[in-house]
Amino acid sequence: MRKLTDINQVDFEKENGLVPAIIQDLKTAKVLMLGYMNKEALEKTLHTGKVTFFSRSKQRLWTKGETSENYLQLKSVAVDCDSDSLLVLVEPKGPTCHTGSDTCWDEINVNNIQFLSYLTQVIKERKQLPTDESYVARLFSKGINKVAQKVGEEAVEVVIEAKDNDEKLFLNESADLLFHLMMLLEAKGYTLNEVVSILKERHDK
Ligand code: AMP
Ligand code: ZN
Ligand code: ZN
Ligand code: ZN
Repeated sequence: MRKLTDINQVDFEKENGLVPAIIQDLKTAKVLMLGYMNKEALEKTLHTGKVTFFSRSKQRLWTKGETSENYLQLKSVAVDCDSDSLLVLVEPKGPTCHTGSDTCWDEINVNNIQFLSYLTQVIKERKQLPTDESYVARLFSKGINKVAQKVGEEAVEVVIEAKDNDEKLFLNESADLLFHLMMLLEAKGYTLNEVVSILKERHDK
């Protein structure tokens, strides 16, 4: 996958001038919808910053949100390996589906692991809040050592619950541990992504 730098990188000729464009929410990683773009639609998208398709039913350019105002604010565009489809990262200005749902697949396409990348963003944002408004902000304000200590406590709770047979408690303590580990990583300027990279590298060896 390559970031689009020049509109001529896209091969519009394959499918009678139209290429499929997968629309993904930059923040949550949810796939929001699929549309088709011709060259004009992509040009308009790049110029206005609002995602514009060629509507096969309307047979004209269609800027998503033109009547509902639920625009898709453009963040970046990438072309696939053989330049005949697009991945468009956006910030949606409202529900994307005309049914009022966030996504045209009604969230079934979001897996739980992807949610972790969203949670990373949430932790970053909460960190900036006043300490009386957010548990996360409050714990961060006490310093790295306090966050680290909390990871230790949650780890002990996981160990204790692993021995009992309350499965629900065990899972909840595991969630606490992962959440606080993510906070510790943030406090030290890292994310879970970097930890996963290490696991991947080890596996590749
Ligand atoms: P909008 O672009 O949001 O103002 O919606 C205009 C019209 O486009 C709607 O009445 C629907 O017919 C259609 N539409 C809107 N959103 C979608 C979507 N996500 N997928 C397919 N059609 C849509
Ligand atoms: Zn392709
Ligand atoms: Zn829809
Ligand atoms: Zn706990």
